[in-house]
Amino acid sequence: MRRLLGEDYARYERTFSDPPARALRINTAKITADRFDAIFPLPTSPLSYEEAGRLLLSDAKVGADPLHAAGLYYMQDPGAMSSVAALPEIRGRVLDVAAAPGGKTVAAALRAPDAFIVANEVNFSRAKVLMQNVERLGLRNVAVTSLTPSDLGKYAAGAFDLVIADLPCSGEGMFRKEPAALAAWNDNICAMNAARQREILRGVLPALSDGGILLYSTCTYSLEEDEEIVRYLIEREGMTLLPPTEAVRAVTAPGISLSGLDLSNARRFYPFLSAGEGQFFAILRKGGEPTRSTARSVPPKISVGEERRIRAFAERYLDVDLGLVTRQGDAYYAVHPLERTLPLRYLSEGVRIGEFSGDNFLPHHNLFTAFGSAFRSRVDLSLTDPRLAEYLHGEEIAADGLRNGFVCVTVEGYPLGGGKCVDGRVKNRYPKGLRNN
Ligand code: SAM
Repeated sequence: MRRLLGEDYARYERTFSDPPARALRINTAKITADRFDAIFPLPTSPLSYEEAGRLLLSDAKVGADPLHAAGLYYMQDPGAMSSVAALPEIRGRVLDVAAAPGGKTVAAALRAPDAFIVANEVNFSRAKVLMQNVERLGLRNVAVTSLTPSDLGKYAAGAFDLVIADLPCSGEGMFRKEPAALAAWNDNICAMNAARQREILRGVLPALSDGGILLYSTCTYSLEEDEEIVRYLIEREGMTLLPPTEAVRAVTAPGISLSGLDLSNARRFYPFLSAGEGQFFAILRKGGEPTRSTARSVPPKISVGEERRIRAFAERYLDVDLGLVTRQGDAYYAVHPLERTLPLRYLSEGVRIGEFSGDNFLPHHNLFTAFGSAFRSRVDLSLTDPRLAEYLHGEEIAADGLRNGFVCVTVEGYPLGGGKCVDGRVKNRYPKGLRNN
């Protein structure tokens, strides 16, 4: 680091005496930034390069916060926020190839509500955490897969307008925040990671369309894993390095140029330039002219009878059209239209809306997190209502005057989950795994 940073080294070293910065991203699919600022109880300050980002000026735990449970925000390191914020545009089909726990996926899905994001995570247990985060935030434009990068390259060749590759790395930018990253570091770790990064990129790049964009990022500082990989993408894969947005350029340092190759449009996020942990990223365009996708749309897998009964359920309970609905096994999903154009094996195709028990359609928790604001029958709890803790604990709550049937339970008007009203009592349908103890 001394060699890399020269006279900035002392400033870098001093950052190790400060606590790591904490930040959150406001879920703008559910709440406006102004309203969030008005109801969020902890002190925050804005980030210059990310409208929906807030530095959290408190070390309070947020895991049990009802506004967190309602998916109104996602905790994300401010350095990690810089890479998606640096993209001038997001549209069409997006693949996040190494997506868990979901920071970049959430950023892309919220920035571009009309885009369709495939959030992939090869590690199955991490993919489940990713699914939970997508569900908690109620994102309607994200599907989740657990495939290898080369399977994605093979089965979805040329399908994506943007590939986000936030790859496993030696984690040198995380030394302050994660002592485990420091403990795991050794002389070989950068070379080992660089080889893995190249292998992942080689596998997944065929999934990028001609003229499509790759966002490559790591949370490390080593040249081997950062600029050397960018050089590899330029020289071996024929890609072109593109500039970041001005707001992100202003808080980051230029990438280090290698033997005459100008890499200043690749960016280094340093904790001594802006609050946050270390990050490196580069935006690159694949060669070739963008072509109009010719992928055909596969019709949803659902029978006329199933569709009719689900529409009847939706008409009874919701003020919104669920759009395209398809079935996978016993589960039904409301999906983004572009989902039907990709031949992938999904863990989750979109918003899981429910399943049948005999003739009855039973709503899934995800229906409430994604479409709860359109529920006609609601129990609105304020942050000070004692029933809020009871509901999050899994208990039945009182609700006078509601019709019998499914209801959405909200906090400050924002959906937390569901329940079933029977004679003035709401039977709790908040998932067991999410309940507060
Ligand atoms: N993008 C995520 C976010 O913003 O929350 C963080 C991703 S993390 C830096 C890298 C991910 O790559 C990990 O979830 C890890 O399981 C996954 N990974 C590890 N080895 C991999 C491999 N060989 N191929 C694909 N993904 C891999």
